[in-house]
Amino acid sequence: MMTPFEIHLIVHGEIGWFLTRRNNTADLRLVRDRRASLKDTLEALGLPHTEVGRLLVDGVEVGFHHVPVHDCRVDVHPVEPPLDVTRPSMLRPQAWGKIRFLVDDNVGRLAGLLRAVGADALHVRGTTDSDLAARCETERLILLTRDLGLLKRKNILFGRFIRATEPYRQLKEVLTVFGLNPPYNFFSRCFLCNCDLKPVEKETVSHRLKAETRCYVSAFSTCPSCKRLYWHGPHVRRMLGKMADAGIDVSGASPGLGKGMIRGD
Ligand SMILES: [Zn+2]
Repeated sequence: MMTPFEIHLIVHGEIGWFLTRRNNTADLRLVRDRRASLKDTLEALGLPHTEVGRLLVDGVEVGFHHVPVHDCRVDVHPVEPPLDVTRPSMLRPQAWGKIRFLVDDNVGRLAGLLRAVGADALHVRGTTDSDLAARCETERLILLTRDLGLLKRKNILFGRFIRATEPYRQLKEVLTVFGLNPPYNFFSRCFLCNCDLKPVEKETVSHRLKAETRCYVSAFSTCPSCKRLYWHGPHVRRMLGKMADAGIDVSGASPGLGKGMIRGD
C-alpha cells in the first residue's frame, strides 16, 4: 500500500465521450494508493489506448506505461488525424512499414469498401478476440472495430473505434483518420479475397459471360485466388456516387476507371 495521492485526469476533445458515457465527466480527480500504468488507468475508465494521441504528466510527454506515484495532472489528448502508422511516436515507438487493416465483423462492410478504394483490408470471420488481437500484432494490422474491449488488448498497437454507423461514412472516417489520400486505386482488389485483380483477355473468359455482357463489355479482370471475374458494371457508378456523398474524392475513378472494373460473375 502506498501513501494515497491524487491524479487530476483531464481527457481532451471528442474522446471525452468514452469517459462521460460512464462517469458523466472527462475531468476527474482520482485518489490512488497503488501502482497502475496510465494505460490501465484510462482503460479502466472506458477509454481504449488506441484512441489516445498524446499523454502529458505535469506537462511532460510520457508513454502508456508511465506509472504515477504522487500527485500529478494528466492530460489525455486524442489521436490527431492523420495518424501516420509509419512514423514512431512517444506512445507508439514501433513504426510500421505500411497500412494494412483488419476489419472486425461488427463493421464488416468496411472491408469491401476499403478494398474498393484499393486499401489492404483483411476480414476474418468466426475467430476469437484473442486470435484477432494476436494476428494484428504478428501481421502488423490496424484493427477497425466497434468492440471497446478488443481495442484495450495490449497487443493491439493501432486501431480505431469506428464512430460512424453508415458504411460509406465509416469508409470516409478511416480514410481521414489514417491519412489515406486520393487518388485512390479504385476497384483494383477482389471484394472477397483482398487480392490484387489481374487483367484478363476477354477471349479467355467469354464462356463465363452472359450474352449481353459479352456484347457490351470489353475489359475484364480476375482474382488470382478465387477466380471471380470482374468488369465495369452499373453499380460501380452507384458505389462511386455513395462515396462522393460521404465526402470521398472519387475524381480519380473517371472516366474509364483504368484497371478498375467490378462486377462479379
Ligand atoms: Zn478473390
